[in-house]
Amino acid sequence: MAVFIHESAYVDEGARIGEGTKIWHFCHVMGKAVIGESCSLGQNVFVGNNVTIGNGVKIQNNVSVYEGVILEDHVFCGPSMVFTNVRIPRSAFPRNSSEDYLRTLVRKGATIGANATILCGATVGEWALVAAGAVVVKDVPPYALVAGVPARRLGTVCECGETLAERSGKAACRHCGREYIISEDGKVERLS
Ligand SMILES: [Zn+2]
Repeated sequence: MAVFIHESAYVDEGARIGEGTKIWHFCHVMGKAVIGESCSLGQNVFVGNNVTIGNGVKIQNNVSVYEGVILEDHVFCGPSMVFTNVRIPRSAFPRNSSEDYLRTLVRKGATIGANATILCGATVGEWALVAAGAVVVKDVPPYALVAGVPARRLGTVCECGETLAERSGKAACRHCGREYIISEDGKVERLS
């Protein structure tokens, strides 16, 4: 499958883009970015140097993926969500080299809702779901549903995204049937 790059997008020389990936209007991908296969970059998406994006990642309109951010396979970035890469930005004390940037890791299958903000240094766990408008200031556990400012855990979600009814113990998704064990401390293990 061919790569599609809309004529209004700038993809700098050296950028690596996997098969089947689509890059839509007004995007800018810098030269040291690595983007996997079958991804979609909506309108006005920026991808910085040394950013790694896995396969099957969907990035909606108006998202800047700054240096320091890693998106694993099948991550979903909702429209206008925000990443940062400097903990304490100061115009008078520039922190704008690679060593200044904190790492933000979004693990496999995670979803970040529209207009949410992920402060740099945080890890969003596998299959976690960050609600629209949330501000994530610390790590989000795998399969957690978090919402609010600052983001707090409201529950647990299935890989398919449906909320699991049980707070702890064995839980089956009403939507897809996947089964999990949720421990008292919120750790989630998939059974089937
Ligand atoms: Zn499910």
